[in-house]
Amino acid sequence: MSLALSRPEPRPERLTAHEARQRLEHERNSRLTQLNAIEEAEHGTADHFVTAQKDSVRRVMKEIDAAFARIDDGSYGTCTDCSRPIPPERLEILPHARCCVACQRRTA
Ligand SMILES: [Zn+2]
Repeated sequence: MSLALSRPEPRPERLTAHEARQRLEHERNSRLTQLNAIEEAEHGTADHFVTAQKDSVRRVMKEIDAAFARIDDGSYGTCTDCSRPIPPERLEILPHARCCVACQRRTA
């Protein structure tokens, strides 16, 4: 008999606010780097494609800011659609996710 079997590894249901902030911080920094890289490559041209690229990066950054606000009001990690907890695995991949996979699929 192994004692290890009776002691399952502790696996938190949710990310702590601290962890979530760190991930979002990291995500925001990489978007900022991305935006700077696009602007550097742009050389002042107002290319439509480049503008679209910048818009999509800015949109994600807005989502990240919204996620920071959700940490503050305590709703982070809860689906805005069905109010069920968003699985931590999803938040690891997409720290600014505002809804669970099922709701995301439904609205996509
Ligand atoms: Zn949902």
